[in-house]
Amino acid sequence: KTPSPTPEGATPAMAQWFALKAQEPDALLFFRMGDFFELFFQDAEIASLALDISLTTRGRHQETPIPMCGVPVAAAASYIARLIRRDFRVAIAEQIDAPPNKGDPAQKGPLKRAIVRLVTRGTLTEDELLESSKANILLSLIRLKSHAASAPIGAAWIDVSTGELETTILDVVEVDELLSRIDPVEILTDLHDFVTEPYRSHVVRDLRIPDVDIARLAVARRFGLTQIGSLGPFSDEEIVACATVLAYVKRTLADNVPRVSRPLRLDQSSALSLDPATRASLELLSARDGTTTHSLLSAVDRTYTAGGKRLLARWISSPLIEPGTIAARQEAWKWLARTPSFLDALQDVLKHTPDLARALTRLSSLRLVPRDLGAVKVALLSADRIIALLRPVYSDNTPEYIRRLYTGFHRRADPLLNKLEAALKPDLPARLEDGNIIAADYNAELDAARALRDHSRQAIAALQAQYAARYNVSSLKIKYHAQLGYVVETTATHANRLREDNSLIFRQGTANLARFSTDELISLERAIIEAADRAQALEVEIFTKLAHEALDHPALAGMAELFSLADVLASAAELSQEGVWCCPEVTADRAFEIEACRHPVVEEALDDGTHFIPNDCALPPEHRVMLLTGPNMAGKSTFLRQTALAVILAQAGMPIPARRARIGVVDRLFSRVGASDDLARGRSTFMVEMSETAAILRLAGPRSFVVVDEIGRGTSTLDGLAIAWATLEALHSQLGARTIFATHFHELGRLTDSMPHLTPYTMMIKEWKGTIIFQHEVRKGAARKSWGVHVARLAGVPEYVVNRATRLLAALEAQQPGIAAPLPLFEPTAPSMSDDTPMADNAGQTETLEADATSIHKVIRKLEALDPDSLTPRDALAALYELQRLA
Ligand code: ADP
Repeated sequence: KTPSPTPEGATPAMAQWFALKAQEPDALLFFRMGDFFELFFQDAEIASLALDISLTTRGRHQETPIPMCGVPVAAAASYIARLIRRDFRVAIAEQIDAPPNKGDPAQKGPLKRAIVRLVTRGTLTEDELLESSKANILLSLIRLKSHAASAPIGAAWIDVSTGELETTILDVVEVDELLSRIDPVEILTDLHDFVTEPYRSHVVRDLRIPDVDIARLAVARRFGLTQIGSLGPFSDEEIVACATVLAYVKRTLADNVPRVSRPLRLDQSSALSLDPATRASLELLSARDGTTTHSLLSAVDRTYTAGGKRLLARWISSPLIEPGTIAARQEAWKWLARTPSFLDALQDVLKHTPDLARALTRLSSLRLVPRDLGAVKVALLSADRIIALLRPVYSDNTPEYIRRLYTGFHRRADPLLNKLEAALKPDLPARLEDGNIIAADYNAELDAARALRDHSRQAIAALQAQYAARYNVSSLKIKYHAQLGYVVETTATHANRLREDNSLIFRQGTANLARFSTDELISLERAIIEAADRAQALEVEIFTKLAHEALDHPALAGMAELFSLADVLASAAELSQEGVWCCPEVTADRAFEIEACRHPVVEEALDDGTHFIPNDCALPPEHRVMLLTGPNMAGKSTFLRQTALAVILAQAGMPIPARRARIGVVDRLFSRVGASDDLARGRSTFMVEMSETAAILRLAGPRSFVVVDEIGRGTSTLDGLAIAWATLEALHSQLGARTIFATHFHELGRLTDSMPHLTPYTMMIKEWKGTIIFQHEVRKGAARKSWGVHVARLAGVPEYVVNRATRLLAALEAQQPGIAAPLPLFEPTAPSMSDDTPMADNAGQTETLEADATSIHKVIRKLEALDPDSLTPRDALAALYELQRLA
C-alpha cells in the first residue's frame, strides 16, 4: 500500500480531491469526472482489489504516478452495492456546477464538486441496494460519559428504508442479545468492548456523539416538539442514542433525509428472551452457514409482500410472552383460515401490492422515483379492494386484528387516489428525468407544451417533403444531429444545388454528404426544445406536488404496516392448512405438552419417500425434565430443536407443526444443540460449551425452557460426566426449568431415583443383521447400550477397525466398574464433587489404549506393505495369520 500522500503541490483537481477526502477519510471517495466516478491513491488500490477492476494511473503527484481506477456512472450502483456489502463506505462527490456549454470558452479551474451522499450499509433507501425481505438496521449504543461503568446503556436503532425508529435501555450483559435480535448492519458506539463478532466490523470508526442538551434539542426539533418531554418517558441515554442515529442519517444522506417515525420504546421484558447462542443454534432467520433457505423463517413463510416478510421475521425473532396478545394473533389467522374465500382473494391482492413503506421513505427523502408514486396508487387501490372483500364477511365478532385492518384500510372517497389514477401513466419510467410520467388530460398546460413539442416535430417532418420538392432532390433528409441539431442532409453530388440558395446555411460537408440548416429549422428546433423543457419542468412540478400530497396523506404510513400485518396473518392461515399444523394453546401456567410434533426444516429437507416421524413431548411440572439418550444420528438434536422451535412459533402467535399442543408461556428459551463454532473469539470448544452452560445456569428459572445436547462432550469422559451430572441436577432441583437434556452418558439414566421430576427417554433403534436402523422415535426408557461403534461402521470406518473397537469396548467396560456403579449424589454445599467421587484409577487404562493404538498402526503398516497382485495364495494366507497375530 502506498503511504497516504499529502496535498502539497497538487493540481487544482487533485487539491479538490484532497479536500473532499479529508471530509470523509473513512470512506472510499467516488470522484465524479464526466461519465465516470474515479478513485485515487489508496482508495483506488482498495477498490480495484475489492471490485476486481483494473488499476491504472493518472498524472503525477509529488513526482509519482497517481494510482487510479474508475467505474462508469451508469453502472455505479452495482459497484457501490458490492463495496458496502463488504462493510466499506462510499462517499459520492458530484459535480455541482453545470458542465460548460459547448462552444463556451473553457471554464477556469475544475468544476465545483461536493460530497452529496455517504453511502453506508445502515443508511440505504434504494431498492437495488437493499434486501427486500430484510430490515436494514443502523444501531447506536450510548453510555453517558458521566456515568459509572455499570450504568445502563441507551440503544436506538432505525431502519432508514422504512423510517422506523426504536429505542431501549439495557444492561451491558444484554447487549449481545439485542445485537442478535435486531441484527444491525452498522453500529455507532464507543463501547467497542461490548460489541462481539460478527458485529464488531460494523462499528463506524469516525463517531460523533452529541452531548445531552444538544441531543434533547435536536431530537425534539426533529419531531417538531418544543420540549423533549412530549416525546414520552425516554432516558437521556436513549435520547442521545436517537440523536446520534439521526445525526448520522443526516450526515450520510445530506439533503435527502427521509421521514422518520417517532421513536417507539421497546420493552425488552415483553418478549421471549433468546440469547445469541440460542438463535444461532435454532437457525431462526438464517442457517449457520449464513444462507436463508434452511431457516425456520423460510420453512414457515407464505407471505407475498416484502413488508410481510420483514414483519414475519420480526415476529419470529421477538416472540411474545403475554398469552392474551398471542391469542389475539391466533384468533386473527384462525378466522382467515375459516373464511377461505376472503383469504384467497386477500392473497391475490397482496401479490400485487408494492413495498409501500420503502416507497414512501424514498418519496419523503425527495429522491423522487416515479414508480414509488405508482406504488402509492396501487397500494390505495389494494386497500379499497381489501375493504370491498372484507365488508361482506365482516361482523361484530370479527377478531381484533381483522378489525384493525378494516379501520386502517377504510376511507371515504380518496381524493389522492382519484388524482393519482388520473395523473399517472400506466407504465412509469425508472427516473424522473425520463419524463412521460404524467398522463394526458391531467394538466392543460402540460398538454399544451406537449402539443407544441409534437406539433413542431411534425412540422419538421413536413419540411422534408417541401425541401425535397423545392430542390428536386428526392433523397434529401432532415435529420437530428447531436452537435448540429436538426439539419438538412443531402449527398455531396446534390450539394451544389442547395448551396446556390442563400437561405440555406452550410454547416458541414464531407466527401459524401453535406449538411445545412435553415431559419425555419432553427426556429422550429428552438420551439421543440422550449416546449420539451417546459413539459419536463411541468411533469417534475406536478409529480413533486403529488408526492407531497401522498406524504401528507393521513392514512398511508399506517397502511404500509397493515399490508404487512395482513400478509403475515394470511401466511399463518395458509400454513395452518398445509398437512398437520395446529393452533397451540398458550397458557399462563407451566404446562408443556406437544403431540406429534415435527421439525419443519428437517422435514422439508427429507428425500422424497422418507417420512418424518412425529414425536410427542410432555413435560408436565411433575416430570419437567426429560433425559434423552440414544446414539448419534438417531434424531436427538432434531427432536430437541423441533421442540424449541414449537415454543418460538407458539409464542410468535403462529401455527405449529404438531397435532395438538398446550404450552405454558416460556420467559427464556435456551438451546444448546449442535456444534457451536466460536473460533473467531479464539476460545476452545470446551470453553465455549462451558460459558454457554454458565449462561443457562445463571439465567434459567422456573418459567424457562432449556434444551441442551451433550453437555460435557468437550472434555475427558469422567470430567464430562461429572459436569453433565451437576448441570442436570441444578436444572432439576435448583432452577426448576422445563428441560430436555440429551446425553450420551447413559449412566445419568440411573438418576431418576434421586431426581423425582426426571424421566428417561431414548431414541428407538432396531438392530438388524448386525447393523442398526434408526427409527427416529422418542420412547420412555433408557438406552441399553451405546451404539457408537455401529455408527462408526455406518459411516464407513473400515471393518477391521470397527471390530477392533468392539473388542476394546468390551474390555473397557469390564475394566471400568466405577462408571457403571451409582455415583454419590451432588450436594450443593460441597461443590468439589470430582474430588470426592471414587473414580477408577484410570492410569492403567490410558496405557492400554496407547498400546492398542500402536498395534493398530502395526497392522496398518503391514497391510500397506502388502502387494496383493504379487502374492501367491500361500503367501496371502501367511500374511493373514501374521495380521491376526499383530491385532
Ligand atoms: P442426532 O442428534 O441423534 O445425532 P440428528 O437429529 O442430527 O441426530 O438426526 C440425524 C438425521 O436423521 C437427520 O438429519 C434427519 O435426516 C434424520 N431424522 C432425525 N429425526 C427424524 C425424524 N423424526 N423423522 C425422520 N428423520 C429424522
